[in-house]
Amino acid sequence: MQAALRPHSSEPPAPATAEPLFPPQLLARLDKNGPRYTSYPTADRYHGGFGEQDYRLALQQRRAASPAEPLSLYLHIPFCESVCYYCACNKVVTRHHDRAARYLDALAKEIDLHVQELGRGVPVSQLHFGGGTPTFLSDEELARLMGDLRAAFHFEPDAEISIEVDPRTATPERLAYLQRLGFNRLSFGVQDFDKRVQVAVHRVQSFESVSALMQSARALGYASVNVDLIYGLPLQTAESFSRTIAQVIALRPDRIALYAYAHLPERFKPQRRIHEADLPDRATRVGLLSAAIEGFLKQGYTYIGMDHFALNGDALAIAKQRGELHRNFQGYSTQPDRDLIALGVSAIGRIGNTYSQNAKVLDEYYAAIEGGKFAVERGLALNADDLVRREVIMDIMCQGRVDFARIEARHGLRFGEYFSRELSQMASLAELGLVNLRPDAVQVTGLGWYFVRAVAMAFDGYLRTVSTGASYSRII
Ligand code: SF4
Repeated sequence: MQAALRPHSSEPPAPATAEPLFPPQLLARLDKNGPRYTSYPTADRYHGGFGEQDYRLALQQRRAASPAEPLSLYLHIPFCESVCYYCACNKVVTRHHDRAARYLDALAKEIDLHVQELGRGVPVSQLHFGGGTPTFLSDEELARLMGDLRAAFHFEPDAEISIEVDPRTATPERLAYLQRLGFNRLSFGVQDFDKRVQVAVHRVQSFESVSALMQSARALGYASVNVDLIYGLPLQTAESFSRTIAQVIALRPDRIALYAYAHLPERFKPQRRIHEADLPDRATRVGLLSAAIEGFLKQGYTYIGMDHFALNGDALAIAKQRGELHRNFQGYSTQPDRDLIALGVSAIGRIGNTYSQNAKVLDEYYAAIEGGKFAVERGLALNADDLVRREVIMDIMCQGRVDFARIEARHGLRFGEYFSRELSQMASLAELGLVNLRPDAVQVTGLGWYFVRAVAMAFDGYLRTVSTGASYSRII
């Protein structure tokens, strides 16, 4: 059993001590930018040398090798009615809902292209609708899409079927309809409940409306409700964010994702409408994060890692305790990182030892799909070094531990020799109290969980050799 092989690592330090959660000397050394490792190699390493034919081949190889292995599905719905100024997503801002019709036709064709390569009825254990705003689609459009998917794939009875919901436009009736379509998990984009902050980021929604949605989700029996928050937004203060945290705790979502706002106006146009002078300074940001972590831990949540919290007793919290966490493009998960078919503009998938991303521009996506081709624009076939590093990095990110003997047995190498440079970096991190370096393993400490990206980065073979110029988000 996996749990027996991978003992879980230490829990984060208990909150409410006199000591700061993030010691200043550690922040000075480690608060840098870093990948979130939803994949390794990270998406900025994908390249145009991997294209449509490579993707087709990967699908054919899967069909030959493991046709009945369950799949994950991701659908990207790019449309949003209005723009949030902090947004870094791939989206199309429009009030013209009729634009969805052509997109749904393209998705139906893309689904069909996959059926041609994989056969009909491949089992699916996980489906996620992300965006953009998936609830931009009408009830009828969502029903059509779910019908297309169910005709192409076989959904396992206990499949996790989740959707990101915009609380500004959703109603309790909508949630009931989504449930009838088979959705059993919801994610609400909240970000912050403070009115001034909401105006500053052009996303206004009341606590009362989200609370009403939460109550109906509970009454309907949704298996899990997630709330997304962002710290580091304009006009956030320790006081205002504490109020938001208290309000979120009162809502009692099963899971909370707390993301750091990365202000990169040169890359993301909407962010140019945020006044830099309104952004909290570094010390305030650290204070916001510390207060959130302390608030959630005190109120019955488990720190999962990176940006994620789950109610004690939630499947994700139990998986953390048992050392059975997994990580995929949506973040932490209880489900193994399965092959992922990603549908829609800019969507990223994984088949076997390959990653691929669809065209990011809608017209290019349409041109490929309507011409009968997959819309893969770039990707990567992992080499042997990528595979071993992926396993080490995911062990760190998910279990907080790397067992040398396990990696040696799986990849036919001597850990100490192969990773000699990385192990000397681990020795430095051990001096900072982030890891325990043992003869047979690296174990992330309770404190180290807050800097787990920095630990993982030491094993990232690309960071030290090739710069893509990508702007990763800050670790804290
Ligand atoms: S944050 Fe979400 S809802 Fe807002 S513009 Fe971006 S994708 Fe659309």
